[in-house]
Amino acid sequence: MNKKKIYLDYAATTPVDSEILEAMLPYFSKGYGNPMSIHGFGQEALEAVDEARDRAADFFGCAPSEIFFTSGATESNNLAIKGILKSFRILQLQTKKDIKPHIITTKFEHHSVLDVCKAVERGGFAEITFINPDKEGLILTRDIEKTIKPNTILVSIMYVNNEIGTLQPIAEIGKKLKKINEERQKNKQPRILFHTDATQAVNYFNCTVDDLGVDMLSMSAHKIYGPKGVGILYIRKGTPIKNIQQGGDQELKMRAGTHNVPAIVGLGKAISMIKNQKTKEESNKIKKLRDYLIARVLKEIPGSYLNGSKNMRSPNNANFRFDDIEGEGLVLSLDLDGIAVSTGSACSSGALEPSHVLLSLGLKHEQAHGSLRITLGKHISREDVELLILKLKEAVERLRKISGNVLAEFK
Ligand code: PMP
Repeated sequence: MNKKKIYLDYAATTPVDSEILEAMLPYFSKGYGNPMSIHGFGQEALEAVDEARDRAADFFGCAPSEIFFTSGATESNNLAIKGILKSFRILQLQTKKDIKPHIITTKFEHHSVLDVCKAVERGGFAEITFINPDKEGLILTRDIEKTIKPNTILVSIMYVNNEIGTLQPIAEIGKKLKKINEERQKNKQPRILFHTDATQAVNYFNCTVDDLGVDMLSMSAHKIYGPKGVGILYIRKGTPIKNIQQGGDQELKMRAGTHNVPAIVGLGKAISMIKNQKTKEESNKIKKLRDYLIARVLKEIPGSYLNGSKNMRSPNNANFRFDDIEGEGLVLSLDLDGIAVSTGSACSSGALEPSHVLLSLGLKHEQAHGSLRITLGKHISREDVELLILKLKEAVERLRKISGNVLAEFK
């Protein structure tokens, strides 16, 4: 008999909702026109893209012209950071100034922010400050304030961390930066722009851009039951940013390349479904199940700990560490039982390096290796969680016995 499979890796990606898939399908083989074409086929596709843009603008509380479709949050993050730096550089050349810009970010960003920042720093294009979170995985607004310099042009802080699910005070940071910018403008200093990677937040938290006070926001559709390979960079009107890829006039010349029409339609549908009452009920259900899971694991598995904050975290995220256990061993063991979880982010789980997120909390290498990320979604039932707890307890016990025997042989 086929074993039931349970997917508990919703932070890595989500299944496409049937309603969303249905909305996308006509744009593969019927409404297949190129939105840049002036004929009827093209105009039909353009209408679909514009409808998705309107839906996204409605969700983020912005103008449709401030929504830029990309291939996902990785591209959005690249565009945000490199596009701002390019614009700053052009201004410097025009005004014959030579100031190295300064960017503030955190040590536990997704690699699509972290590696871009490291690369521009290595290339000598910017000076970067990587802020440490506290030991619960929270960034303090005052730590950002302390690191601001006269040449700071950009602050990029993720809304929800993809590994430990911690929720950052984006609206509070936005408010603080607004005040600081008012002062800077009086002194003719450059405005500090604010970018957030909201990829893991869109499903669960307020993303109205004016409430957050952000100038740019990144997201990906496949984390909200939409398709892979499509996302958004919200760019506030008037933000000094330049395109980073050439070759087409799409997206107001900000992002060259033919629109992925079916995926954009799917993104629009997915984003419009988040505001539904049904979605709110689903996230309450997810949170209850997640709290139940955390309580049972911490109570019933000795030497288990929760990584990240107890309260300031995404409702779907539980990230544990276990004494004397490698996270990879647990992932493989649970996979044999048909349960899919992860050690950290999907993008780095091929590597056996300990997670940069967990290290940034001050955990030791061996603690960071013993971690397990469980992320729930709307298709998870109480029964699934019960089975996970049972299999997790068995796996921890078995792996500890094996590592105990191995150690004994070396004594
Ligand atoms: N940022 C965060 C916080 C993420 O979780 C992810 C996906 N793991 C990304 C960016 C990148 O998204 P994508 O791979 O869809 O470009």
